[in-house]
Amino acid sequence: MSIAVALEILRREIPANVTLLAVSKTHPVEAVREAYVAGQRAFGENKVQELVNKAQTLPADIEWHFIGHLQTNKVKTLLPFVSLIHSVDSLKLLQVIESESAKLGRRTRVLLQVHIAQEDTKFGFTPEEVRAFFTTSDWKAYSHVEIAGLMGMASNTNDREQVRREFHSLKKLFDEVKGAGLLEYISILSMGMSGDYPIAIAEGSTLIRVGSRIFGARSYTKH
Ligand SMILES: *Cc1c(COP(=O)(O)O)cnc(C)c1O
Repeated sequence: MSIAVALEILRREIPANVTLLAVSKTHPVEAVREAYVAGQRAFGENKVQELVNKAQTLPADIEWHFIGHLQTNKVKTLLPFVSLIHSVDSLKLLQVIESESAKLGRRTRVLLQVHIAQEDTKFGFTPEEVRAFFTTSDWKAYSHVEIAGLMGMASNTNDREQVRREFHSLKKLFDEVKGAGLLEYISILSMGMSGDYPIAIAEGSTLIRVGSRIFGARSYTKH
């Protein structure tokens, strides 16, 4: 299936209030360009250098999202090119994004990544840590980051009910944080990938991150 056809099918499936992020990690610039020509403007990458290289090669009206584990020493390189960082998984990282953004005189939009899966390999804050962050006034220390919402990944399992429960718990946390009314710009709940986005949308996702359904399987052999 061509990239354009895959995008067209997805767009028909997805409600208008859900944003489609095309995850282009490992795929060449030509594949991104094909999706761009088909109208896609938001792309997700999980390696800093790959995002920067693609951003410098491809049209300037593309919105680049960072979705991978981010090392603090790479923040500075990433910031000029990124429009949303989905994967803030520690206060240390948030602090570095704050200070590097201050140096650049800009505000950076981020999501807090929440650990909802049962696997213990996934990065992220626990729901309790997220609650504590917002109920204490810790969030006030960050004037150069805009915490726009939450991101999570469900367990990689065929158990649909477990996936649903995990997304459901993230949506509840999102509603709590948003309902607290501390930050008026909290609006993004990033959950759902190729294998589970219909469940994520049913559970209240506002942004899905879809790679292989658009670009085909990834090959990591060259990386
Ligand atoms: C790779 C990746 C995706 C996309 O995965 P697919 O299964 O190819 O849709 C989504 N989110 C994150 C965080 C990823 O690393």
